[in-house]
Amino acid sequence: MPSALEQLRARLAKIDDLENAAAILEWDQETHMPSAGVEARSRQVSTLRQFAHELHCEDETARLLQTAEPETEIDKDLLRVATRDFHHATRIPADLVGELSRVTGMAREGWKEGKANDEFSAFEPHLAAVIDCNLRKAEALGYPDEPYDALLDEFEPGMLTSQVSTVFEALRSDLVELVGQIAQKPTIDEGVLTRYYPAKAQWDLGVRVMTDLGYDFSRGRQDRSAHPFSTTFSVTDSRVTTHLNRHHFNPAFFGSLHEAGHAMYEQGVDHELDGTPLQDGTSLGIHESQSRLWENLVGRSRPFWDHYFPAVQGYFPAALSGVSSSDFYRAVNAVRPSLIRIEADEVTYNLHIMVRFELERAMLSGEVKPADLPEAWNARMDDYLDVTPTTDSEGCLQDIHWSLGTFGYFPTYALGNLISAQLWTAMERDCGNLADLVANGEFATLLGWLRQNVHRHGRRKSANQILGSTCGTGLDAGPWMDYARAKFGELYGLA
Ligand code: ZN
Repeated sequence: MPSALEQLRARLAKIDDLENAAAILEWDQETHMPSAGVEARSRQVSTLRQFAHELHCEDETARLLQTAEPETEIDKDLLRVATRDFHHATRIPADLVGELSRVTGMAREGWKEGKANDEFSAFEPHLAAVIDCNLRKAEALGYPDEPYDALLDEFEPGMLTSQVSTVFEALRSDLVELVGQIAQKPTIDEGVLTRYYPAKAQWDLGVRVMTDLGYDFSRGRQDRSAHPFSTTFSVTDSRVTTHLNRHHFNPAFFGSLHEAGHAMYEQGVDHELDGTPLQDGTSLGIHESQSRLWENLVGRSRPFWDHYFPAVQGYFPAALSGVSSSDFYRAVNAVRPSLIRIEADEVTYNLHIMVRFELERAMLSGEVKPADLPEAWNARMDDYLDVTPTTDSEGCLQDIHWSLGTFGYFPTYALGNLISAQLWTAMERDCGNLADLVANGEFATLLGWLRQNVHRHGRRKSANQILGSTCGTGLDAGPWMDYARAKFGELYGLA
């Protein structure tokens, strides 16, 4: 008779197989599936996910979690994480799950209509229902201080709202000041980025640079999709997608670096954890720190472009003859306060996130009523970025997230930025001058450090534990702010 622990491992592996099979179907849907297949595909994915969910929530899972006796440190972590997942899967009552799916189904339609016609009133009642469902969900899950904790915890386990809020507050005034100083300076010419960039050369360049950084194509692949993403089915199969725009250099190139950063994290998880709930990124913030580190701290740095620019010119001789490495470096780092988050640059991006985080929290507490959202949104955009939306479509209706019922997700984007700079500082302390390594195209040292300190642990260590063991601190905006001041101060000639 296998032990309770063995039975539990077998059961969790089955759940993992069902989830990953569903994820492969979803990957196929975004990359290769004919569009007519969408209805059947939704059914197939939902069947697999339902089986996984049922197996997960059975009493037998609870019994095994209670009786399994850990033999190793990995077993202990497995039990802790699997128990957490079990609570998340079972604490939300079935009627609320149904209600959430009904409410968000309608909210999505209301949001689409509102965004298309610039009519917030089409979305407002749905937003109220989404907030209500999220409050009930938070009550069901439980939280230490405020309902937002429960929602944040789904994406950023162990991180408290107050922790994020304190760090954001400290960052905000410094960042608003930096953006204001940059706005006084002449704009950087980005024209070079919107010349003609043939698709095949973009593809080939992306593959070359991802390979140089350390993305392992023998355990991954790249395909095209409308929106780039990365997805993982096992430690031995972590894939990325890209979107090629012939008239803009940035989306495919920086998108590839970004997604490769996510996928290299998953490729770096200890093989021993494969097929268990521990084989995954530990939080969205840590995940995003990996994508942003390669995209921005490496890929938008001067040494990176000193190293790559001659080769990149070879891929695009027509677009880039006569352009200098320095001009190109400046163009890919231009700062331009704008209304739209997904078009935001490295500096202003975090402010877009703070607007959303503050408003989510205020809507949950009742401080901002759904009807007052447009006004509260516009006031913050004006305060932080000195831009004011003239329509709600380019204001509070721009993102799909709230219509999907997702609250607590946005802050993880900014956490990723902050954590990437914290890890960079720790890496520099351990590995020496990182700029020299990047200038020489020696990325293996960087990846090796990330593997050792972040990737291999999978979900065994929380974000706070990773920060503690690498940086000796908790979440801290200081390193990112220092980085931004130095880099953009030099670029814009600030005092
Ligand atoms: Zn990402």
